[in-house]
Amino acid sequence: MVGVSVHPETSIQYLKGIGPKRFEALKRLGYETISELFYFFPRRYEDRSHFRPIRSARISEFITIKGEILDLKVRPVKRLEIFEMLVGDSSGTIHASWFNQGYLKKNFEIGEQIILSGKVEFYNRLQLNSPEYEVLISDEEETIHTGRITPIYPLTEGLWQRTLRTAMKQLVDQHAGELLHEYLPSSIRMRHDLIELTPAIQNIHFPESSGTLAQARKRLIFDEFFLFELALLEKRTKEKREGTAIPIPVEKDFLEQFTKSLPFALTGSQKKVIREILADISKDIPMRRLLQGDVGSGKTLVALSAVLQTVRAGYQGAFLAPTEILAEQHYKTMTKIFGPLGINTRLLTGSTDEISKNDIRNNLRTNKNEVVVGTHAILQDNVKFSNLGLVIIDEQHKFGVKQRGHLLKGTLSPHLLVMTATPIPRTLGLTLYGDLELSTITELPAGREPIKTYWITQKKEKEVFEFIIKKLKAGDQAYIVFPTIEETEKVDVQAATKEYEKLKKGAFKDFTVGLVHGRMDSKEKDYVMRRFHAGEIHLLIATSVIEVGIDNPQASIMVIENAERFGLSQLHQLRGRVGRGSKASYCFLFGNPKTDDGKRRLRVLTKTGDGFKIAEEDLLIRGPGDFLGTRQHGVPQFALANLVTDYEILKTAREEAIHLLEKDSCLKHPELSRLNERLKQYTTYFQD
Ligand code: ADP
Ligand code: MG
Repeated sequence: MVGVSVHPETSIQYLKGIGPKRFEALKRLGYETISELFYFFPRRYEDRSHFRPIRSARISEFITIKGEILDLKVRPVKRLEIFEMLVGDSSGTIHASWFNQGYLKKNFEIGEQIILSGKVEFYNRLQLNSPEYEVLISDEEETIHTGRITPIYPLTEGLWQRTLRTAMKQLVDQHAGELLHEYLPSSIRMRHDLIELTPAIQNIHFPESSGTLAQARKRLIFDEFFLFELALLEKRTKEKREGTAIPIPVEKDFLEQFTKSLPFALTGSQKKVIREILADISKDIPMRRLLQGDVGSGKTLVALSAVLQTVRAGYQGAFLAPTEILAEQHYKTMTKIFGPLGINTRLLTGSTDEISKNDIRNNLRTNKNEVVVGTHAILQDNVKFSNLGLVIIDEQHKFGVKQRGHLLKGTLSPHLLVMTATPIPRTLGLTLYGDLELSTITELPAGREPIKTYWITQKKEKEVFEFIIKKLKAGDQAYIVFPTIEETEKVDVQAATKEYEKLKKGAFKDFTVGLVHGRMDSKEKDYVMRRFHAGEIHLLIATSVIEVGIDNPQASIMVIENAERFGLSQLHQLRGRVGRGSKASYCFLFGNPKTDDGKRRLRVLTKTGDGFKIAEEDLLIRGPGDFLGTRQHGVPQFALANLVTDYEILKTAREEAIHLLEKDSCLKHPELSRLNERLKQYTTYFQD
């Protein structure tokens, strides 16, 4: 930086060594200002801090040496040229060569001290091939590229490791002290033994030692989690403080009557979570609650009790499902339950015709429709509620986190209940749902038997089919699923269709076989599902459109083809389509996994039916990004932190965030002004 005064918002193009071209490249990576560039972290490090005697070099080792330049030459080879350097120390000499980089020669002089780091290779003699280099002016001088634990930055077109590293060194040396300000309260730093911000940033880029690098990482990972949790919880604290929701009174007697009218008794768990939810919505603080319960634990009814109370109090309810099939199933359940009570439920999905859509939208705007159930279509901007009191999101893990925010904007905030059958492993729970209160259904309805699960090779198909035929004859129903992967959906659908044609005429010719897949239009899907529910279709061939939520208690057999292609949680969900009544249920996994992880997945399923155990295992096998799938847009990206391995830091950061907001919910204390500023920067970035 020449002559100009620098401030955090100064564009990085004014840094020495960053011209317009490199600026463009960094901008593409998301860094524009100096304060942002401090957080452009190395991708990894190479330890080039130990000098080895040249004599000790062995083929294919990676070494760092320090010596004197003894000779320099540019040697033509065919139409190209090789730049060669001979370096010696007290133990011996070695050549270094750079292919087609003759222009480098002018940077060096014989007699200079130099450090080289690179791989030892053999071309008629031992030599270093295109090593990293650094000329030493004096012995005290701190080196940048080698002779140290060296940062390796992620690159993009137009960025070179050496120039970038030089610029970063300059940035950190000259501006970190002046531009970075400690924002963590010192009490928090003390309690958790966290170093200050400036040395943390300095050491994450140019570590003095592996020890200081570890300290820097710990401090910066803490920061990532702490800011994230603060942002999340601050919003929630504000909602609580301002009390902007509609209180919905609970009518105990009415509710009791309603549950008595059901064909079964609620489980203790269901009753408990219903109480928790109703207590929440009776307050003027908007409910933000996550209901988790394994597949088949009866979440729908819990949600419907809350919807019922909302409508009774004169407000509207919105019920979101991730697929049309599921939305239609809920619609059916709701018309059955709500219809007799005179409550008007409407179904709004992508394939609702325009006339009905308009009608629904008009009625919602004027409070004529009380409950709407549907898919993403409900989230469209032109769907406006006059009086929205409660939003239910079923199978939340299939939606992005951002999407849940959408309906909740507005002056009065509706209550929100999100439901999931994919139990969220603790780490992810804290980050994804850290602002939600948690209710858990811990028991399944009485009389459910564990689903007997077998992992089977294709050779046994005939025996499995014979077993299914026996069961179908006894009045059971079955699914055969060909799971779909988004990228290959078309092929998967073809496979399912082909198999359907084959099975219908072959093994299952004595039964009614149905087919349902994601490429059918909603009416066709609905028709097939209705016939399956009614018992008219005995065997349903399906793709993973039936993965979530589908509920037919008469179905007791699930066959999953190509099971090795799917994640554990997804397989658990699919399996959860059976075992929903009192019948003994079976799941057959056909699969021939090639990898150990693949085998482990299928083995886990045969051993346990516990969704929580399965989710933890899945997270371990796949890591957080994959675990939530590509559709889960809301997974926060942390630059340094790893949700699995840094769990302990996350927990501490969260506790500190909670503690701080309890003491000072607006973070008004003067000691927190820097933190507040940092948080503001962070939330603008975090919310869009
Ligand atoms: P999920 O939690 O997977 O969404 P559902 O709400 O679809 O589960 O319920 C699964 C099945 O169990 C449904 O057929 C539902 O009617 C039934 N069910 C719900 N609660 C009970 C209960 N207490 N006793 C018996 N069956 C129940
Ligand atoms: Mg469900």
